Amino acid sequence: MRENEDQNIIKTSPGDNVGIVSSNDFNIPFGQKVALCGIKEDERIIRYGETIGRAKISFVEGDWVKASDISMPESPDLQSIPLPDARPQDAATLEGYTFQGYRNKDGSVGTRNILGVAASVQCVAPVVDYAVKKIRHELLPRFPNVDDVTALTHTYGCGVAIDAPGAKIPIRTIRNIISNPNFGGEVMVVGLGCEKLPPDQILSSAPAYSGGEKGAGYYASLSLQDKSFRGFEEMVRGILVLAEAQLEILNKRERVSCPASDLVVGIQCGGSDAFSGITANPVAGFAADLIVNAGGSVLFSEVTEVRDAIHLLVPRTIGPEVGQALLDEMRWFDEYLLQGGADRSANTSPGNKEGGLSNIVEKALGSVVKSGTSPIVDVLGPGERIRKKGLTFAATPASDFVCGTLQLAAGMNMHVFTTGRGTPYGLSQVPVIKVGSNSELAGRWFDLIDLDAGQVALGDKSIEEMGWELFRMILDIAGGKKVACDRFGLYNDLVLFNPGPLT
Ligand code: CA
Repeated sequence: MRENEDQNIIKTSPGDNVGIVSSNDFNIPFGQKVALCGIKEDERIIRYGETIGRAKISFVEGDWVKASDISMPESPDLQSIPLPDARPQDAATLEGYTFQGYRNKDGSVGTRNILGVAASVQCVAPVVDYAVKKIRHELLPRFPNVDDVTALTHTYGCGVAIDAPGAKIPIRTIRNIISNPNFGGEVMVVGLGCEKLPPDQILSSAPAYSGGEKGAGYYASLSLQDKSFRGFEEMVRGILVLAEAQLEILNKRERVSCPASDLVVGIQCGGSDAFSGITANPVAGFAADLIVNAGGSVLFSEVTEVRDAIHLLVPRTIGPEVGQALLDEMRWFDEYLLQGGADRSANTSPGNKEGGLSNIVEKALGSVVKSGTSPIVDVLGPGERIRKKGLTFAATPASDFVCGTLQLAAGMNMHVFTTGRGTPYGLSQVPVIKVGSNSELAGRWFDLIDLDAGQVALGDKSIEEMGWELFRMILDIAGGKKVACDRFGLYNDLVLFNPGPLT
C-alpha cells in the first residue's frame, strides 16, 4: 500500500498519478495531493487505481493538485453493473477469541447492561430526561450489575404522516432500537396519550422485547396523560416505579464468556481526510475481516459514500439477489436526493476538502475500504434489524448520528468510528471506538481518540498489526472496558431518518 519514492508522499496504488503529502515540511499542505508525473489537461486523475476525476489544467511533476482543478466524473450507471453468480457463504476459520458479554433470551449478546427508557413521542422527552437523571442518582446505585440508564428520545411521533410510505423507516427504527441487545429485552416506553404511535404498539411488535418476568402481554409502559397522575411529580414517580421493576430484572444479568461470533460491529466514518482511506479505514477493514472470519457480524453503511464505488461492491455480494438489493438501495437513495433537489456531491464537507479529499468519488473509494474484503451476505433497508452473520450492508445516510442511530436499530453491540478531521462523537447505548487517521489528530485529541491509525502512514506499524490491535480492543471494550467518550459522558442524540412528510 505504501510505495513512497519520497518519505513525505504516500502513493495508494501502483498506477496512481497523484500522491498524498504526509509531512508539514513541504510547500504543499499536509493531506493534499501532489502530481507524481506530468498530467495533461483532461487526463484522468488516478488514486486507489481508480479515476477520481479529470484534470481541468495541466500539471508538472510536484505540482499541487487542488480539488478545484479536478472535474468530477459521473456516478457508476446502476443499470450497467452485472450481478454476480450465487456462491456459498465462507465458513468461519478464526477460533479461540472471546469476550465477556450478556447473553439474552433471543440469542443476541449485549456488551453493556443498560436500562433504556424510550419515548414514544418527542412531547415526553424532557420528562424522560428528568426521570432518567433521577433514576441514575436514586435507583441505579442499588443495582450494581446494571451499567447505566439511558433515555431513548427522538423527534418523531407528533404531526407525522403515520401511513405515508416513508413512515415505515422511523417506526421500525424505534421498534428495533429498543430491541438492541444492550437493553436485554427489558426496555420501557413512556408515551403521552394522544400520539399516533402509542407505547403498547411499539413494544408489542418490538422483536426482542421479552415482556419481563411478568410474562407475555405485559408492557413496561405508561402514558403521561393517564388520569391517575396528578401533576409532574406523580408522573415522575410512575416512571421510577416502572424503572425499579425493570432494574430488578436487569440486575440479574451477568457477564459470561461469549465467542467473537456474537459481535455485531457497526463501522462508519466521519470527518474524513485524505489519510482515512490509507490508515484508519483499511485498519478498520482488516479488523472487520477478522470479525467475519471469527463468525461474527459487521455492518457498514453510508449510501452516499459507497455510491461512487458501487461497481466494486456489487461483485462482492454472495449472489444476484443480494447484488440487486444493493443496487435497489442505491437507486432509492438517488431518487430521495433528487426529490430534495440535491445529489451526491452535497456529501463532501468543507473540512473533507481542506483535509485533502477532492470530491465524493475519492471519499467513497477511501470509505469502502473499511468494509474489508469479505463477501457481502445481506443488505438491510434503513432501520431494519440484522439477519445474518458475516458482512452486511445496512443502508443509511452518511450523517454520523443518523447512521449511528440506524446501526443501533440494526442491532450493533459495538461501534467503530474512523475520523481524520476529528469529532467528539459518542453514543450512550453502545461503546464507540474512535480511530484517528493521522497522528497529528491523535496527539492533539489524545483524550478523545481511542486508537491512532496514523502510525501506519508514519511506517511505524503495518495495517495488519493495527488491524489486530483494533480487533483485540473491540473484544476488550465489548467485555466492559470504557472508551474515550465514556470518560466524559459525550453522547450524541438519537436522530431518526424520516423520509416521510410531516403534517
Ligand atoms: Ca458518517
